[in-house]
Amino acid sequence: MAAKLIKGTEIGELILQEIISEVAHIKGKYGVVPGLVTILVGNNPASLSYVTLKIKTAHRLGFKEVQDNQPATISERDLLALIDKYNKDDSIHGILVQLPLPKQIDEKKVINAIDPDKDVDGFHPVNVGRLMIGGDEVKFPPCTPAGIQELIIRSGIETGGAEAVVVGRSNIVGKPIANMLVQKGRGADATVTVVHTKTKNLADHCRRADILIVAAGVPGLVKPEWIKPGACVIDVGVNRVGEKPSKDDPKRMVPLLKGDVDFETAREIAGHITPVPGGVGPMTITMLMKNTLKSLKCRLGVQ
Ligand code: NAP
Repeated sequence: MAAKLIKGTEIGELILQEIISEVAHIKGKYGVVPGLVTILVGNNPASLSYVTLKIKTAHRLGFKEVQDNQPATISERDLLALIDKYNKDDSIHGILVQLPLPKQIDEKKVINAIDPDKDVDGFHPVNVGRLMIGGDEVKFPPCTPAGIQELIIRSGIETGGAEAVVVGRSNIVGKPIANMLVQKGRGADATVTVVHTKTKNLADHCRRADILIVAAGVPGLVKPEWIKPGACVIDVGVNRVGEKPSKDDPKRMVPLLKGDVDFETAREIAGHITPVPGGVGPMTITMLMKNTLKSLKCRLGVQ
């Protein structure tokens, strides 16, 4: 039987609706709305399209949204001063600096300059530490792993005692999602294995997984015979493998995207599976919005 699809577009939209009603409630009671600033340095087309989507979503949710575009030639000092300005701005609750940054700027310094209580991407070392401790200590879980966990929870997948295997150990996906699944509590309590390019017998590890999370950036890396029948497969990979005509305008070409899992064959074996696109992807922006709302709620001292 074909696997049940975990649709990030649908689950993400449900969460956005929840955020819209919370924003309306907070605005009515306290007269404030969440404020999100996105800082874009230069005009990398992919970065510009991500930032535009984030700003559009924030606008739709009733947030105050600021898109601060800076030239690619901005100095590190000026960028740090700009971050400091937003750190001190009480109407801003989330600061996002779109990565990557030009060569003259040290990304680490920039991330470290963001007030950890406005670091809605969850990349500041203070927030990484909070995530590692877990429980109430966690303030801003990084957006893609938080989206993955939310997809698992809302799809009714049992994580307690489950064997979870994470393919990839990046700081933005692999390591944080492994850390989140190993914590105590809802959507966690799993027995977690992290595999990477130095792992021996990758296929054997994957075959043990009740929950298989793949974030390698290698199209079709996970073969159907690596999947345990009935497993929940979360494919984080987004790989451009060519172009295809756009649905809206067949004369225009758009990127053809593939995940890290051979979807068509894997769906015949898995119990649940995320499609690419439309699986994990839409959840990242959704969780960014949730973190920004949380930042305001923390400021107001409301749950
Ligand atoms: P990354 O920083 O390049 O890390 C990839 C990880 O996968 C590394 O730990 C690497 O191992 C491991 N890996 C690569 N090839 C492997 C192989 N053949 N066997 C075993 N492990 C392998 O990538 P990332 O930033 O985590 O992103 C991973 C994928 O997710 C990309 O396709 C990216 O576009 C996508 N992504 C999607 C979203 C979203 O949907 N919103 C967000 C973030 C990322 P080593 O450490 O040993 O090199």
